[in-house]
Amino acid sequence: MAEKSVVGDHIVDKVRRRRRLAEINSPLPQKTRVITVSNQKGGVGKTTTTVNLASALARRGANVLVIDLDPQGNASTALGVMHRPEVTSVYDVLLGDAEIADAVQPSTDHENLICVPSTINLAGAEIELVSLVAREQRLRTAVEDFLRTTDREIHYVFIDCPPSLGLLTVNAFVAANEVLIPIQCEYYALEGLSQLLGNIQLIQKHLNPTLKVSTILLTMYDSRTNLSQEVASEVRTHFPNEVLSAVVPRSVRISEAPSYGQTVHAYDGGSIGALAYLEAAVEIAEQKAFNGQGSQSEGA
Ligand code: ADP
Ligand code: MG
Repeated sequence: MAEKSVVGDHIVDKVRRRRRLAEINSPLPQKTRVITVSNQKGGVGKTTTTVNLASALARRGANVLVIDLDPQGNASTALGVMHRPEVTSVYDVLLGDAEIADAVQPSTDHENLICVPSTINLAGAEIELVSLVAREQRLRTAVEDFLRTTDREIHYVFIDCPPSLGLLTVNAFVAANEVLIPIQCEYYALEGLSQLLGNIQLIQKHLNPTLKVSTILLTMYDSRTNLSQEVASEVRTHFPNEVLSAVVPRSVRISEAPSYGQTVHAYDGGSIGALAYLEAAVEIAEQKAFNGQGSQSEGA
């Protein structure tokens, strides 16, 4: 009996949250927001956050480009984009052999969503880039060229970073205006964070003075554990302005979706995980400091 009412409360809560989302008109940014999703730890939810946030914003009317900068190509997979070794990819773009316009593919997830895939070739790029001129600026130049020449107005560019602080991640930091850091609500969540912030400061000082940490998203939250709650409250204390109110729960649906080459929105749009990413997307769209206030409405 008690369990039944818990399930009932859960459904009522989901319906209420969905209704609220439907009522909100999210603004579109006045200028393209280029957001790097970074955390040098692996398995914290960078790729999951990149594809599901990008998909959520696309579903709410924004045109979104995802750049897969991880040689594993998991973002490309989740967006239903080909990334066999012979495909033109971000690797060719970084080496100067192709432009983003040559490499970009439509995502099967949504018509507003396009993706520059990564292929396994990218694994060698860290080394190949070392001897090239302007080795830290190559992605930035490619993104600027694409945004200047493409017919379609792009509202968001998301860059999915590999779990390291090598030249690929440096290229992502130099290309972006904003950093989004996903933080897993688990043991050692904050370990390495000061190193990441220190590196971002170095980038600000030497390569990209406009870069800002705009957003922190708590992921893999398990409301049944004290640990998740403790991590969440500690992160909120340290970063009161950056942490989104929306929290992504640990969810089987989120983890299953990539094996079907799908985002959680395509795989199970009614799930609690899809809802959390839509709520996070709405908050990001509303960040006044980054969206250039007063833009027109996009509808829900
Ligand atoms: P990263 O890109 O930082 O290495 P991923 O996004 O690939 O991390 O996530 C690591 C693993 O955790 C993947 O298997 C992914 O499916 C799973 N995962 C990510 N977010 C969630 C979540 N909210 N609930 C359950 N599993 C998740
Ligand atoms: Mg990843």
